[in-house]
Amino acid sequence: MICYDVVVIGGGPAGLAAAVSAYENGCRSILLIERDVRLGGILNQCIHNGFGLHTFKEELTGPEYADRYIRRFNETDIDLMLQTTVLDISEDKIIRAINEKDGLVSISAKAIVLAMGCRERSRGALNIPGTRPAGVYSAGTAQKLVNIDGKMPGKKVVILGSGDIGLIMARRMTLEGAKVLAVVELMPYSGGLKRNIVQCLEDFDIPLYLSHTVTKIEGKNRVEAVTVSQVDSNRTPITGTEVRYECDTLLLSCGLIPENELTTGLGALINKITNGPVVDSELETSIPGVFACGNVLHVHDLVDFVSEEASNAGRNAALYALAEPRYIVKTKIPVKTSSEIRYTVPSAIALTGMNEDIKIRFRVGNIYKYRKVTAYAGDLILGTKIRKVMTPGEMEEIVLPGSKLRDIKGASEIFIKVEDNDL
Ligand SMILES: Cc1cc2nc3c(=O)[nH]c(=O)nc-3n(C[C@H](O)[C@H](O)[C@H](O)COP(=O)(O)OP(=O)(O)OC[C@H]3O[C@@H](n4cnc5c(N)ncnc54)[C@H](O)[C@@H]3O)c2cc1C
Repeated sequence: MICYDVVVIGGGPAGLAAAVSAYENGCRSILLIERDVRLGGILNQCIHNGFGLHTFKEELTGPEYADRYIRRFNETDIDLMLQTTVLDISEDKIIRAINEKDGLVSISAKAIVLAMGCRERSRGALNIPGTRPAGVYSAGTAQKLVNIDGKMPGKKVVILGSGDIGLIMARRMTLEGAKVLAVVELMPYSGGLKRNIVQCLEDFDIPLYLSHTVTKIEGKNRVEAVTVSQVDSNRTPITGTEVRYECDTLLLSCGLIPENELTTGLGALINKITNGPVVDSELETSIPGVFACGNVLHVHDLVDFVSEEASNAGRNAALYALAEPRYIVKTKIPVKTSSEIRYTVPSAIALTGMNEDIKIRFRVGNIYKYRKVTAYAGDLILGTKIRKVMTPGEMEEIVLPGSKLRDIKGASEIFIKVEDNDL
């Protein structure tokens, strides 16, 4: 059996940053496993710019951003297995993977970083009535067809879902000569970033219909038309509001699902809201020595935050592996929230390493304007910030300063509250 201190699963931006960080934190026995033919993950197909503003203070394309980390990765002597798919992981950290050259291999790890990213919600998961013709694609598949394979999926397009990939593809298809008739969103708000609504829809006069959905797909061999209906507050289509669009393509951008089959197989606890593993502030899952980061943990809007999070996960995995035998039993303080907040990552603060600031990332479940977000440990205010607007499509964060965390040892919980801003 091959043995490593740290094994990272997934070679997207999360896996790359985690592996490099484990190396920079003193670990010299690291393996990265990626099922694709190249490193970079989904960034390879994201050829638009806007990546790296936070990390590199410049606007990069997806491949350029990935390249920065691939170069750093290549400067190390971290082992790499490409075109290798991890099949399962056991609780004692034996990883079974398969590739054409070696067949089935077993790899033992002291610490593991899960960085498998996410996949898109498919038509099957959406239950849209109608026929089953060609021409229905997930927005990410269309993105790969156009940007990597050089093929146009269609000429007259309707997009269901206003997540960032759908918005980006509305612009991309338009630039490539297609007519995007409408972007249709079930919710009363967009799931994408405001900057993408402006730059990808408004700048190209592409209409966005909120509180609408596709209620019928027509076409025998190829999509010929889709019907769009308005929905009520229960998201039920309203009879009499149907509008038929003649088109040859329907793109679906209806949410991303973290790739957690390996995580559930391992027995790690899963957060029912994020569909990612439950982690503490060290990004450690409920299985000791198994860490998670990036889109497999929770869906991120910006890759910069993926890299930042993954660096922490990689560092903590290295510390875990190098500190063997690890006798430290962590005391954890749960993070609870008021009802406006759907989830937080992490969901508990580990009371080791208390001298560092801890970033809590969260999403709200609705649009909130002029609110104050405060983190409490009993009566002690750990951090507060005022937000002009918070939307479900934009990830929020609040920082708990290390200087204050030292004083919370006896606290039963940390409570993050969205309050009226009376300042
Ligand atoms: C289709 C699509 C388009 C996107 N477009 C944008 C965009 O335009 N702009 C933006 O900011 N964000 C975009 N995102 C979000 C983007 O995914 C994240 O910002 C970031 O790429 C997440 O990094 P990651 O490393 O967590 O995941 P990924 O980049 O998805 O990387 C995960 C890697 O893990 C590998 N993997 C998975 N399972 C296994 C396994 N069992 N064995 C071995 N390897 C495995 C995958 O092959 C993949 O390379 C998009 C996401 C998707 C799904």
